[in-house]
Amino acid sequence: MTFVIIGGGPTGVEMAGAIAEIARYTLAKDFRHIDPSQARVILIEGEPRLLASFPEDLSSSAMKQLVDLGVEVRTGVRATNLTETGLQVGDEFIPCRVKIWAAGNNASFVGKTLGVAVDRVGRVMVDDDLTIPGHPEVQVIGDLANFSHQTGQPLPGVSPVAMQQGRHAARNILRMIKNREPRPFRYWDKGSMATIGRNKAVADLNFVHLSGLPAWLVWLFVHIIFLVGFRNRLAVLFQWAWAYLTFNAGARLITRNFQSEMRPPA
Ligand SMILES: Cc1cc2nc3c(=O)[nH]c(=O)nc-3n(C[C@H](O)[C@H](O)[C@H](O)COP(=O)(O)OP(=O)(O)OC[C@H]3O[C@@H](n4cnc5c(N)ncnc54)[C@H](O)[C@@H]3O)c2cc1C
Repeated sequence: MTFVIIGGGPTGVEMAGAIAEIARYTLAKDFRHIDPSQARVILIEGEPRLLASFPEDLSSSAMKQLVDLGVEVRTGVRATNLTETGLQVGDEFIPCRVKIWAAGNNASFVGKTLGVAVDRVGRVMVDDDLTIPGHPEVQVIGDLANFSHQTGQPLPGVSPVAMQQGRHAARNILRMIKNREPRPFRYWDKGSMATIGRNKAVADLNFVHLSGLPAWLVWLFVHIIFLVGFRNRLAVLFQWAWAYLTFNAGARLITRNFQSEMRPPA
């Protein structure tokens, strides 16, 4: 079986790593008639390197870690002509039924219904205080906002941006209620991480670049810390420790008779 993941950003890299790991380790002994560890996992990225928003050393490290997991990585080439039976990648046709799109998507349709300036993917162009130009009473935040006042490029569509903008918007609303001027927004970029698999990750913490086990441990720590409540943190920590020690990643859900649907057409 072949899985093709299109898009080598954090979502595609994490997805490729997770599928390869599940096929090679988690499901390896679950079936008698098929061998999941023989699954081909192919990651396609149109840009010359994976994780284009990360520093180059971490892109190379991510590529190496994926290759170690058995993922075939193809960069600088675009996927086209996706059909039920496969897809075209450069000059090659890759037969495969499962294709996973991780090459970006459009913002909510709501932006386009406002009658204001939006970018190519439908994000609303906002002023430096997160309001729509000419509409100081309307703020747009998170994935729907194109905020380009800090770096000249739109801020990335990640949850820290959305959370910081949410808090800033709330503070500005309180200021406006008191007849004060809203303040411009500044994003505090604490770094980026992508987890690839067991002991495999990359982390750009701005002051240091980490790969492999150290990056993976930082990723675990940060995700545990952001969980709400001590009991939740303990429960997740226990589940992760169990999965780590047993190579067992929880439930297998078979909800329909996929076998008959997956049969090749006559
Ligand atoms: C597969 C995937 C993996 C990701 N991984 C990461 C990651 O590891 N780290 C990270 O930082 N970010 C990650 N992100 C990005 C992150 O999820 C978003 O940047 C973040 O959720 C944006 O927050 P938001 O509030 O703008 O939008 P959302 O979280 O999308 O929230 C919008 C909410 O509004 C609701 N809604 C939409 N339209 C309407 C409507 N008309 N009326 C009422 N409600 C509506 C939606 O149902 C949704 O609940 C990932 C995104 C995806 C898709």
